[in-house]
Amino acid sequence: MKFDAVIIGGGLAGLICGIKLGEAGLRCAIVSRGQSALHFSSGSLDLLSHLADGTPVEDIESGLCELINQSPLHPYARVGASGVLDYADQTEALLARAGLTLQGHWRYAHSRLTPLGQWRKAWLSQQDAPCAPLSGKRIRVVGIAGFLDFEPLMVAEGLKRQGIEADTAELALPALDALRQNPSEFRSVNIARMLDDPRFTPQLLQELTTLASGYDTLLLPAVIGLEQPELPAQLQQALPCALNFIPTLPPSVPG
Ligand SMILES: Cc1cc2nc3c(=O)[nH]c(=O)nc-3n(C[C@H](O)[C@H](O)[C@H](O)COP(=O)(O)OP(=O)(O)OC[C@H]3O[C@@H](n4cnc5c(N)ncnc54)[C@H](O)[C@@H]3O)c2cc1C
Repeated sequence: MKFDAVIIGGGLAGLICGIKLGEAGLRCAIVSRGQSALHFSSGSLDLLSHLADGTPVEDIESGLCELINQSPLHPYARVGASGVLDYADQTEALLARAGLTLQGHWRYAHSRLTPLGQWRKAWLSQQDAPCAPLSGKRIRVVGIAGFLDFEPLMVAEGLKRQGIEADTAELALPALDALRQNPSEFRSVNIARMLDDPRFTPQLLQELTTLASGYDTLLLPAVIGLEQPELPAQLQQALPCALNFIPTLPPSVPG
């Protein structure tokens, strides 16, 4: 085995480095151990949401200049505002080439809904992430009985505090009962492996169609599309309302 480069660490940095070297025609090996931070990521990428003094950033370009004034030793200050934005452009293009359809652009920071029903600024988010404004007025947050890493009531209460009409419901799928018997196994990634099984898709669609009746948006925990990345879009096409996925506690399917 002959390689032009060896990268130690297969997290976001190592993987992007590997893709760039591959695109430049170099053979490259990535050596990694353990889980990278991607296993915990919400599926949104951050660029700059707050300044060092805590001020929220609405416009990333002017925020970068202000950050560099406030914190001249920050790594962004060393790269410079235009350098950071140049890398941001390159990253957006690379992710698109890699087949990842993400919403957002550094010129337009957007707000994404958190599992606590609050909004947080993000640079790029997965296509089916719930971003402001949510579609329509009647929002239903759908939980899964026994799944402890997602609390639909917390999301709905957070939305209601902002004057958004929201209620909760539960996804009733007997297929999940076997997994539910062992709470330590009833985690997002294992649920996703089961829900991605095409044998359960008709049942899942039927249940979601019932839950969607009378609502503009269904919000589900992000536990679909791990092994069948096209499944969320298929479900969305078949449903009469918008379908968005909220990241759960780790391990994270979008990550
Ligand atoms: C809980 C959590 C949630 C986050 N959520 C988000 C988010 O939602 N959005 C966002 O933009 N950012 C998020 N971040 C930050 C983001 O994930 C990190 O900034 C980014 O992933 C860092 O990438 P990295 O490649 O530098 O490091 P890592 O992702 O940590 O990858 C480094 C890899 O190298 C391996 N490694 C280290 N040393 C060696 C060695 N000697 N030999 C072999 N392998 C080695 C490690 O085990 C690991 O797999 C989150 C971070 C955490 C911790």
